[in-house]
Amino acid sequence: MSRRTVDVATLAGQVGRGEKRAIARAISLVEDRDPRAGELVAVLYPTTGRASVTGFTGPPGAGKSTLIGAVVGLLRAEQRRVGVVSVDPSSPYTQGALLGDRIRLADHFLDEGVYIRSMSTRGHLGGVSEATLQALLVLDAAGMDSLLLETVGVGQSEIEVATVADTVVLVLMPGSGDSIQALKAGVMEIPDVIVVNKADHPQTNAMRSDLRSILSLDRDRVWKVPIVETEAVNGRGVPELWQAVLDHRAFLGEEGRLDERRRRNLEHEVVSVAAARARRQLTEAVAADAELRALIAQVQERKLDPLTASRRVSERVLRDHSD
Ligand code: GDP
Repeated sequence: MSRRTVDVATLAGQVGRGEKRAIARAISLVEDRDPRAGELVAVLYPTTGRASVTGFTGPPGAGKSTLIGAVVGLLRAEQRRVGVVSVDPSSPYTQGALLGDRIRLADHFLDEGVYIRSMSTRGHLGGVSEATLQALLVLDAAGMDSLLLETVGVGQSEIEVATVADTVVLVLMPGSGDSIQALKAGVMEIPDVIVVNKADHPQTNAMRSDLRSILSLDRDRVWKVPIVETEAVNGRGVPELWQAVLDHRAFLGEEGRLDERRRRNLEHEVVSVAAARARRQLTEAVAADAELRALIAQVQERKLDPLTASRRVSERVLRDHSD
């Protein structure tokens, strides 16, 4: 079946049966912003919500991919089906490059119970894009038990990953000074689990005590954020890390917290996707529409104030565009 002849109902059925080629095709439609992607996700959506979503975030080089590879191995040993989505805004690498650089993940490419996809963010400035959200829904509908989402960076992307994941794991390595500063300054939301990877490094102890002192400031939080030390390259500490994720998941399971978190996340998702679309429509309209160009020119010539102009732009663009 070529791309051109994709039938949404057939593809949805194949995705629902967990067929890897269908999953790949579905995520490509999503990534290409193909109109059929919207239809497909609409069909699949009622079957989603079963997978757990764990976000891994942290600075480049901390060991996120290596760690995810080790976690995938652990989950596969328990026959769990795993989907991995890796988003890297700074370097949108291809699957080829992923194979080359990220050997740990490459081990799992041929496994039927694992689906790994790296997605470019194409102009999206950090955080989690609409396509990523849809890709996670596709994997959820495909019957994956655990979804692992990798995002890179400090600051905004950590905050955004928290709006998608049930559990956020912040991966640091000794010497990740920027991340410590971001945590301390409250720029970065406190994650649910903190990993100090490359724990064979001599600065591990110093980092652990820095982290403890930052976490001790947040006494009101009911969940006590565990700090887990790992050596992703040889798997040391990985079972403990996953146990910490499961503990957090059990915590969420109490008192309706998971439900509350997901409801909040879904509301945020609807608003943020709508906001991103509105921004795109506004930007495109202002670039192309002669009447709006004239309006902007009036502001530039100080004949019209920016507030009035923006009101007119919104009225003209947002009312008529609801695709
Ligand atoms: P990412 O950018 O956060 O995904 O980091 P990677 O998983 O690509 O790892 C960056 C580099 O650190 C790679 O060369 C890994 O082999 C290496 N690495 C990962 N974990 C460890 C570890 O526990 N100890 C040491 N010494 N190196 C590690």
